[in-house]
Amino acid sequence: MKCRKCGEKAAVNMRQHKLALCATHFLEWIPEQTERFIEKYRMFTRNEKILVAVSGGKDSLSVWDVLSRLGYRADGIYIGLGIDGGTAYSAQSQSLAESFADAHSLRLLVHDVAQHEGASIPEAARLTQRGRGKPCSVCGLIKRHIMNGVAREGGYDVLVTGHNLDDEAAILFGNTLSWAVGYLARQAPVLPASEDGLVRKVKPFCRFYERETAAYALLRGIDYVYDECPHAEGSTSIYYKEVLNRMEAERPGVKLSFYLAFLQAKRTGAFAESARSELSALHSCPICGQPTTVPGLCTFCRTWESIRERQSTPVPGD
Ligand code: SF4
Ligand code: ZN
Repeated sequence: MKCRKCGEKAAVNMRQHKLALCATHFLEWIPEQTERFIEKYRMFTRNEKILVAVSGGKDSLSVWDVLSRLGYRADGIYIGLGIDGGTAYSAQSQSLAESFADAHSLRLLVHDVAQHEGASIPEAARLTQRGRGKPCSVCGLIKRHIMNGVAREGGYDVLVTGHNLDDEAAILFGNTLSWAVGYLARQAPVLPASEDGLVRKVKPFCRFYERETAAYALLRGIDYVYDECPHAEGSTSIYYKEVLNRMEAERPGVKLSFYLAFLQAKRTGAFAESARSELSALHSCPICGQPTTVPGLCTFCRTWESIRERQSTPVPGD
């Protein structure tokens, strides 16, 4: 297989685009395409202040790398979850995120959940009813809240996440299986800011396959955390990715066309009604000031209130 641009040996073959490229041209192609998606979906401009959610994984470090190479003003935010799982997952991912920032002279903000809130994610999950089984629901809630809060307080215009096409197709697949119209209405490359204080959220890598972002990180020499979070094992999103990959193996391009056809359906008005009702009823949390769908404390503040109550209640027998 030869590179379409120079005829040298190809390093990456993208069957869905019928495009093979050598390492040099692939490393040019990813930023070019990213720029194209940023413009096409009107994600942000070079005058805006960008905050990248950095987990230490290949997608978030690669998107940060690409944005800074393209000349965008992008800082990073790393959230310390305090997850060990036998592989020192959080410690390892934080150290890789910090090394990347140092090596590229980029600014990385670090927000440690245990330091700020008084309990790590595994502890918080144990102390709340949301923690039955996996800590993912409490973890997702806390991460979303902190990212929005840090972006607001820091005066950032936009929050970037490293979601790739495999992530987006798996989310779409799950939401379609259950016809979760509220979630379908909110799934998009750009979620606009709301007047109530939700910062604009964008996904510049949403049209790249996971194997492309992995190839980019590898060919660019980015050192990222290889292990997934130990709690990701056995998750439904991984199962959906496997199912979609089986389909992709027989029908190259099926994941991309599934996602793009969904975006096209939304452009022509699908889920518009649900999107309107989702946005109409936001209130402000009296503790943190962040928007919430029901009046009173937001879920984040309510969750921490109950965690702190449990922390201060002595366990019988202790
Ligand atoms: Fe959090 Fe890990 Fe679950 Fe992801 S897999 S939501 S990082 S606990
Ligand atoms: Zn709150």
